[in-house]
Amino acid sequence: MSVGEQDKEFSVFESMAARYDVAASKLGIDEGLSNYLRTPNREIIVHIPVSMDDNTLRVFDGYRVQHSIARGPCKGGLRYSPDVTLDEIRGLAAEMTWKCAVVNIPFGGAKGGIICDPSKLSQGELERITRRYTAEILDYIGPERDVPAPDMNTNEQTMAWIMDTYSMHTRHTVTGSVTGKPFSLGGSLGRREATGRGCMITADQALKRFRWNRESTRVIVQGFGNVGSQAARLMYEAGYKIIGVSDVSGGVFNTSGINIQHLVDYAGKHKTIAGFSGGESIGAQEILEQECDLLLPAATESVINSKNAHNVKAKLLVEGANSPTTPPADDILFDRGVFVIPDILANAGGVTVSYFEWVQDRQGYFWTEAMVNERLKQIMVNAFDGVVRFSENHKVNNRIAAYMLAIDRVAYCIKLRGIYA
Ligand code: NAD
Repeated sequence: MSVGEQDKEFSVFESMAARYDVAASKLGIDEGLSNYLRTPNREIIVHIPVSMDDNTLRVFDGYRVQHSIARGPCKGGLRYSPDVTLDEIRGLAAEMTWKCAVVNIPFGGAKGGIICDPSKLSQGELERITRRYTAEILDYIGPERDVPAPDMNTNEQTMAWIMDTYSMHTRHTVTGSVTGKPFSLGGSLGRREATGRGCMITADQALKRFRWNRESTRVIVQGFGNVGSQAARLMYEAGYKIIGVSDVSGGVFNTSGINIQHLVDYAGKHKTIAGFSGGESIGAQEILEQECDLLLPAATESVINSKNAHNVKAKLLVEGANSPTTPPADDILFDRGVFVIPDILANAGGVTVSYFEWVQDRQGYFWTEAMVNERLKQIMVNAFDGVVRFSENHKVNNRIAAYMLAIDRVAYCIKLRGIYA
């Protein structure tokens, strides 16, 4: 199946809502509160005029959805893609609320996106789009309101532009207005690796349960951007056997193991992994169905769905991407005994170190990388144990357990605050 034929059986919001409904009903949450928890607080749509390099004027559509502020300021990434939709951003914003609650950090959830194709835009055009978008949503963001971070096709440079635009308007430098910034502008050591590192920490916990060792655990990673490349590199360095990796233009497969350091160097030079000589070439979707022990989708949503879930051979699925598995695929994987570490747990390392970055910016005191990594590990291990314990106690799969744990925490805060009086 090609990338373009991915199953659209559930949109990102529908996937989130389907899981939410199951979890909320198992928790016995009453209808009014349940509707409130399911609905975003605010949805912002902006139309941004931008001068292009050829002197034409174009209008780009952008979104920021703030799902919940019950547990603290909103937190969530900003993505640039031609496929961005409001529905997708709405679903991802809600997932951020649940993710922050699963790892128990004091944030609510948000997400932003701009419909654009960064591969066809110059740096100057990207900068002007980013600055104008920031100016349009300025009243609704900030360290106490909503703190953006990088996501698909955005990076440290994008965050530096947002921080600068925000600071120009507030007339002083506000490093805590975004996370995932360059280190010299108030970024945190360890942030770049954090999502991939969190995936590895949760995978390590699963290995302990199965009594597997890293050296004989064969891993396939889909996506070689921030999350996929860092996860693959860290796991390779820790001794895992990485046998397959793909990006949007194709993949590489080698049952004897791929040298990830060489692959990182190749990708740095060629901006893709296609053409790498350290294995056979393979399609970006086909790679998901190859024989392996651990599958780590770290690219995009709905890549594991009712059409291919039966063919997934991995026994352990670590969801680096957001929403890579659709609800019908969840059922298929569960029936087949696949141990799933759901996205809101597996990829929560990024938002956790973003939280550390926000804390460091507010303190004006910066931690060592060892301290960041140690605190990240503590939080991820606790969250993993909490979710697995909840799943065993309530006889539900890990994903529903993670949702139940998160929804329960958010509902409790809402009740304490008296919003629901
Ligand atoms: P990125 O833009 O840096 O990288 C995305 C990678 O996926 C690229 O290698 C791209 O070529 C590849 N890709 C895209 N579509 C593909 C497809 N259909 N098949 C195969 N490969 C494909 O993005 P990222 O920041 O690494 O984010 C990846 C996923 O992880 C997204 O779902 C994102 O929401 C999620 N996520 C990211 C972070 C973070 O800290 N960056 C944190 C949590 C979750």
